[in-house]
Amino acid sequence: MDRADIVTLDKRHVWHPYTAMDEYIAKTDPLVVVRAEGPYLYDADGTRYLDANGSWWVSTLGHRHPRLVRALTEQAGSLPHTSLAGVTHEPAARLAQELVALAPGFSRVFYSDNGSTAVEVAIKMAAQYWAQNGRPRRTRFITLSGAFHGETIGATSVGGVEVFRDVFGPLLFDVVHVPSPAEPAGWEHAFARVEATLREHPDEIAAVILEPLIQGAAGMQMYAPAFVRAVREATRAVDTFLIADEVFTGMGRTGARFACDLAGVVPDLLCLAKALSGGLMPFAATLATERVFSGFGGGRERALYYGHSYCGNPLGAAVAREVLAVYRDEDVLGQVARKAPKVKAAFERMAGTIPGVTRPRALGMVGAVDLGSGGYLASGGWRVYEAARRRGLYLRPMGDTVYIAPALNIPDAALDELLAGVEASLLAVASGRT
Ligand code: PMP
Repeated sequence: MDRADIVTLDKRHVWHPYTAMDEYIAKTDPLVVVRAEGPYLYDADGTRYLDANGSWWVSTLGHRHPRLVRALTEQAGSLPHTSLAGVTHEPAARLAQELVALAPGFSRVFYSDNGSTAVEVAIKMAAQYWAQNGRPRRTRFITLSGAFHGETIGATSVGGVEVFRDVFGPLLFDVVHVPSPAEPAGWEHAFARVEATLREHPDEIAAVILEPLIQGAAGMQMYAPAFVRAVREATRAVDTFLIADEVFTGMGRTGARFACDLAGVVPDLLCLAKALSGGLMPFAATLATERVFSGFGGGRERALYYGHSYCGNPLGAAVAREVLAVYRDEDVLGQVARKAPKVKAAFERMAGTIPGVTRPRALGMVGAVDLGSGGYLASGGWRVYEAARRRGLYLRPMGDTVYIAPALNIPDAALDELLAGVEASLLAVASGRT
C-alpha cells in the first residue's frame, strides 16, 4: 500500500489520540512510519526522523533493541499469553523478584497494561486498604495542580491539568487539589497546603499521589526532591500512603532508577509502565510494600477484586526482564549521567540566546523550554514542530513547551544532531524564517 493510500484510509477511519480531528483531516500530513530503529523513525517517503520523545516516552532503549526483539520472539514461541488467575509463569514470577530487588522497600508486584491502569490499581489499593483496615472514612486523595496520572476515570480524577479533566467534571470523584511544587511560589508553599490538609483531615486522606520531580504532561514542570521528602514525612506523621507515579520518571529517565531515589524516599505504592517494556509491549507494574499487601490478607471478602485480561502478560514480562538486563549490561544510568549535562547546557544556551525562549529546565534525559505561557492549547510549540520536521526531527510539543525526552541510550552523535536541530528550529521560529 503506498503512502497516500495509508493516509486516506487513516483519515477516513482512525480517531487519533489528543488530536483535534477536523484540523488533522484538513491540514495534517502525518508521519507514515514504516520502520523504526534506535533513535530513528523512518517515513514511507524515505525521510528519517530523530524521535525526540522516544515515542511518547517509552523507547528508552531506542526502537527495536535487538535483545528486546529476541526476548519477545522467544517468548512468543512458547507462551504468548495466559491469564494470571490461578496461573503463573516464569516471566511474571522472575520479573516480580527482579523489580522488588531493584526497588528496596517493596515486596509485591501487581501487573497491568499501561500507565493509567498502574495508577488506577494504586488508587483502588489505597482506598480498599483503609476501607477494610479500620479507617473507612479515608477515601480522598491529595493531588497536585498540573498532575497527570492517566486516562481512566480514577486516574483522571486525581489529575490536575484542567483541559484534560474539566469536561469530565461531573464523573470525577472529589479530591483535594494543592498547588504544584513547580509553581513560582515554590515547593514550600505547595507543601504547606499538603501538610495542613493532612493535619486537618487525617481521617479522610487515603493517599497523596504525585509524579516525583517532573510533572511530565503539564509541560515538563520540574521541582525539588525536598518536596517529595517532606510529603513522605508528613504522610508518615499521620500514617497515610504516598503513591509515586513513576510512569514517566521511572526507569532511568531522571538519571536514577526511580526519581524517588533522588529524593531518598520509599513510597507505599510505585507505578511503572512506559519504559518498563521498552516500547515493545503495553505493560505495567504497581509495586506495593508488605504493609499495603498485608492489608488484603484474610478471607475472600478482603481480596483485591481487580485484574485485566493482560495482567502479567508473558510477552510483556519477558521483554521487561530483558529491559532490566540491558539497563544493567549497558550501564544505561551511567550513560544518562554522562549525557545529561550536555542536555542541560544546550537548553540553557537556547534560552539564553534565542529571543522569546524562556524557562530552560533539564533533569536526566529531559530538557525543555517555553515559548510563552499559553498552556497545553497554545500553538507556539507547534510552529517549532513544523520547523523541526523539516529538519528531520519528530519533536512533538505540549502547547508552548518544547521538550526532548529521547532514548536514554541515544548515541552521542544523534544527541548532538537532536540538540542542534531543536536549537535551529527554535531559531527559525524566533526569526520568522521557518
Ligand atoms: N502517569 C504519568 C505520569 C504519565 O505521564 C502517563 C502518560 N503520559 C500516564 C500515567 C498514563 O500512562 P498510559 O498513557 O500508558 O496510560
